[in-house]
Amino acid sequence: MKRVLILMSKTGGGHLASAQALQAVFAQEYGDAVQVTIVDLLMDHLPWPMREFPKSYGWIANRTPWLWSTLYRAGHRPWIASPIIDATAQLSLTAIMALIVRHQPDLIVSVHPLAQELAMFALERMKADIPYAIVVTDLASVHPLWFHPKAVRCFVASEAARQAGLAAGMTDAQMRLTGLPVRPDFAVPARPRDELRAELGMDPERPAVLLVGGGDGIGRVAVIARALGRTLGAADAPPAQMVVICGRNRRLMTKLQKEEWTIPISIHGFVSNMSEWMAACDCIVTKAGPGTIAEALIRGLPILLSGFIPGQEEGNVPYVVNNGVGVYLRDPAAIAQQVRRWFGPERAELAAMAERARALANPRSTHEIVAELATLFMSSPSARSRD
Ligand code: UDP
Repeated sequence: MKRVLILMSKTGGGHLASAQALQAVFAQEYGDAVQVTIVDLLMDHLPWPMREFPKSYGWIANRTPWLWSTLYRAGHRPWIASPIIDATAQLSLTAIMALIVRHQPDLIVSVHPLAQELAMFALERMKADIPYAIVVTDLASVHPLWFHPKAVRCFVASEAARQAGLAAGMTDAQMRLTGLPVRPDFAVPARPRDELRAELGMDPERPAVLLVGGGDGIGRVAVIARALGRTLGAADAPPAQMVVICGRNRRLMTKLQKEEWTIPISIHGFVSNMSEWMAACDCIVTKAGPGTIAEALIRGLPILLSGFIPGQEEGNVPYVVNNGVGVYLRDPAAIAQQVRRWFGPERAELAAMAERARALANPRSTHEIVAELATLFMSSPSARSRD
């Protein structure tokens, strides 16, 4: 049996989701022959106070985007970032070495930008010859800290991300342009829409707008839902329905469920069948989260971006707009008007965007990443010695 150790941390939901997607495809493709363990490197293996950072990340990024933007940009400057990273690497050395000794991995895969320097430092000290691969979970804006010259492979999801890797010193031979790791249910074609709509309790005919705010239900979801309700519910508006997925934001869900709506609406908390909801709808309104964008493209959903987290989500806006798969509008009234036009006079444009979305997507990305990762540890000396 081979062992794969995935390093992630719960700064946002995306890193864990990507790690789980890789784990699921490893299980699907290799069964018991490969054991995949996911660890939260920052929260469970860094000394205090460094281990506190993931807990405050969500709050900082969502409540004080200006502060997050400053921190993110400070990380681009080696004279600020390097001393902090070097000190953290020294302080966490013993714990990370113990982690590697405990798990005896044949391959280490990182899905977090802050893992590389810390883990590589420990591997160097141990003189351990374990292949190390990076799977970037951001889409188009990729921080230089993601990249490390000693990684054998680095998988990215866009040409902009590949260029960022090359600019950060990676070689062509190390880089792979695959796509984001998405859950296996996105890798198979969706079931017929009428079947899905019947199961999900949706109107069979009316065009549907899906409104989401990432895993945590953030980004002015309530205000946008009300604007959509008003505009699409107007007497002269084309027929429409709305699905709102509030993720883990239960307060948002309860609040919206108590309100009066003039179009058919279905409001949910965290759903585990996002692939089905996406396949049942005609467009999506979302913040520029990489996971949601990649999934929406696979399901051929034109994307209306309503905002972004400064730094890592910034480049996702031109990615969507320049590829002709969506638009970016911040004002809730303008968002609602755009959806109304998409369901009315601009239906042909909506259909063209849906086609372009499918063409840009890669539903097999996780399988491609896993297939190449397997070649790395199958040929690693440490793997061979245990066979
Ligand atoms: N998601 C989900 N169920 C929900 C809400 C969100 O499975 O009820 C998933 C969504 O499909 C996507 C992820 O959560 O895979 C959100 O990732 P994204 O990168 O868009 O935003 P984040 O939450 O990481 O900021």
